[in-house]
Amino acid sequence: MPQINILPKEVYQLIAAGEVVERPSSVVKEMIENSVDAGAKNITVEIKNGGSTYIRITDDGCGIARSEVKKVFISHATSKIKASDDLDKIGTLGFRGEAMASISAVAKVQLLTRTPDEEIGTRYEIAGGQELDFSDAGCPVGTTIVVADIFFNTPARMKFLKKDVTEANAVAGVVERIAVSHPEISFRFIRDGKQTLITSGNGDLKSTIYSVFGREFANSLIPVDYEINNMRVSGFVTKPSMSRKSRGMQFFFINSRLVKSQTAMAALEQAYRNSIMVGRFPGCVLNIECNSSFVDVNVHPAKIEVRFANEKPVFELVYYGVKNAIEMLDTPKEAHFSA
Ligand code: ADP
Ligand code: MG
Repeated sequence: MPQINILPKEVYQLIAAGEVVERPSSVVKEMIENSVDAGAKNITVEIKNGGSTYIRITDDGCGIARSEVKKVFISHATSKIKASDDLDKIGTLGFRGEAMASISAVAKVQLLTRTPDEEIGTRYEIAGGQELDFSDAGCPVGTTIVVADIFFNTPARMKFLKKDVTEANAVAGVVERIAVSHPEISFRFIRDGKQTLITSGNGDLKSTIYSVFGREFANSLIPVDYEINNMRVSGFVTKPSMSRKSRGMQFFFINSRLVKSQTAMAALEQAYRNSIMVGRFPGCVLNIECNSSFVDVNVHPAKIEVRFANEKPVFELVYYGVKNAIEMLDTPKEAHFSA
């Protein structure tokens, strides 16, 4: 009979890491989410070589107290929830307490952090799950994390990384999406020494879309703001005359979390049915606000798939919200006379 082995921590952590850390962009997503959860107003993301050798994320959030720093890298250690009840009302982007432990299991991580209450900050270094340094450091309030050499200890996984430019584009995609879901935060993205994205953080969605996706897309948009079934949908959709060849510019957020929702996508396209040709697609940046108990984000480790308690009200919300916006466009404006 085969013997059943209880795997040592080093081994199961490598396996668990595979669920969260797929490639540099997944590391960047998890770390930006942590900075957002920390209340940062400014977040800078810097990568080299597609992020495979170097990722640095700097934020001016709440920082991490000296006594808490080591816990950041322990599996299932989180400051965001405490008990199972909390899973029904998740108000933060993170909650699994898994990302930093996973990242530090498969990469070399350096952390510098300070809280407003501390005079001296903390420096912590961990690589492949092994602690290397824990010391004083002078640094501003907030957190800087460097992740170097992803998969240095799992060469088999490293082979699956794509060309640097492909990985860098995936990272850029993550930064862009999170930047438009948080217009109140200023984002900077630096790629191999060159700044390729900056948003103002002034809270205005339209100008953030302009900064991230450019003038042409921003100018093709009409506003959406609609409430029904105790939920609200707001943001922008493309004018029917500005339809696109693919779904590549459809962005949905639930309570400011980037998600994939088949329901929202179907409702969007249904609303355009008589307005655009078959084979053309609308673009959108739409945020759905609903009670957090109505949506379950604990479906997938990367938290990108969500489940609604009931899909129908979500469909109606998006469908009528978008339909209204399109119809407003068709209604001739009242004659306007100026003196
Ligand atoms: P989760 O986000 O699910 O709680 P993580 O592994 O991503 O789990 O992070 C673990 C903990 O580390 C967080 O709960 C938070 O307390 C702390 N942390 C991580 N990154 C930051 C940051 N940039 N600023 C402040 N705290 C952070
Ligand atoms: Mg997290």
